Amino acid sequence: MPLQMVDLHAQVASIRAELDAAIAAVLDSTAFVRGPFVQRFEQELSACLGGVPSVSCANGTDALQLAYMAAGIGPDDEVIMPSFTFVATAEAAALLGARPVFVEIDPGTFNVDPGDVEAAITDRTRAIVPVHLFGQTADLDPLLELARRHDLVLIEDNAQAIGASYRGRPAGTLGRFGCLSFYPSKNLGAYGDAGAVLAPDAADADAVRRLANHGARQKYFHEEIGVNSRLDAFQAAILSVKLPHLPAWTVARQEAAARYDAGIAGRPALAATVTPPPRAPWGDHVFHQYVVRAPADARDRLADHLRAAGVPTMVYFPHPLHVMPAFPGMPEGSLPETERACREVLALPMHPHLGADDVDLILDVMEEFFR
Ligand SMILES: *Cc1c(COP(=O)(O)O)cnc(C)c1O
Repeated sequence: MPLQMVDLHAQVASIRAELDAAIAAVLDSTAFVRGPFVQRFEQELSACLGGVPSVSCANGTDALQLAYMAAGIGPDDEVIMPSFTFVATAEAAALLGARPVFVEIDPGTFNVDPGDVEAAITDRTRAIVPVHLFGQTADLDPLLELARRHDLVLIEDNAQAIGASYRGRPAGTLGRFGCLSFYPSKNLGAYGDAGAVLAPDAADADAVRRLANHGARQKYFHEEIGVNSRLDAFQAAILSVKLPHLPAWTVARQEAAARYDAGIAGRPALAATVTPPPRAPWGDHVFHQYVVRAPADARDRLADHLRAAGVPTMVYFPHPLHVMPAFPGMPEGSLPETERACREVLALPMHPHLGADDVDLILDVMEEFFR
């Protein structure tokens, strides 16, 4: 197998017998949507996230939309979030008529800086949405304090950081809502689309469950306008197989990251030019991505050099949301750290089956470029 950003072949092979049995069990049950497999996965997910109630849904984008709906976010409300994120964070708010208000990132963590968030609060602000980018949380205590002081809802976009922690607590369980994606390439991935909302308050979890089910708690009795966002049983059964493996897979990612770090530090040509991913002091990084910074004028040529040698890379994200035609209103240049990150970042292959020799080879090819 050539090197891949995420090696799903190796992953499937490592748990193939368990997957086959789980898929057969769903076929035998014919409970294809909702039902016992979905319930079981929700319980297992909650159990491994400190008992916080979880509600499954169709994907991570829906998880965000459902959390925004349950928080009562609607027309003309302002929702503060980073511009350096996947489009879904902003899109789900905009679809409800709310206005995403983009703030700068802390270049040290790639996540929102509480000071910038505070400066963006107005009397229309309803929510703060930190995105735990690449597998590491934002600095949540000051954000939670801001939310309390200004009566705002804090919603964690935790699509990339399941298993990460903030001061000992699981990412996604500190805000009023936490949104998860189980897109296949995420740290806990289904083999199709899937997502979930975490809500520490049982009444909030109930509201999400109702909204995801056409606004109905009771069949054919609709209390409000909701959506149809369901997890199917095949994905739930696959996720139940994979969830117990997540801790070991997370450790394998952290070991690969440590190998990258040490390899960069030990190669003078790399140590002088490439910056390894920052580590915040407040918790565990689960390395959804291993993202380095390279000099902006060399980044794309470095990627070409790696590709020619059989090493794939990705740029998350080449353009910040605030300059996209979909989100007009902010000129280029208004979030300089965000824009600089877009020019410098490069994600290297990262997954639990990446070997130490793969990491060494990738770094050797990178070193070749800078020499
Ligand atoms: C993947 C992702 C989403 C959306 O999840 P989907 O399951 O693809 O809808 C939202 N936010 C972030 C930060 C993501 O990485």
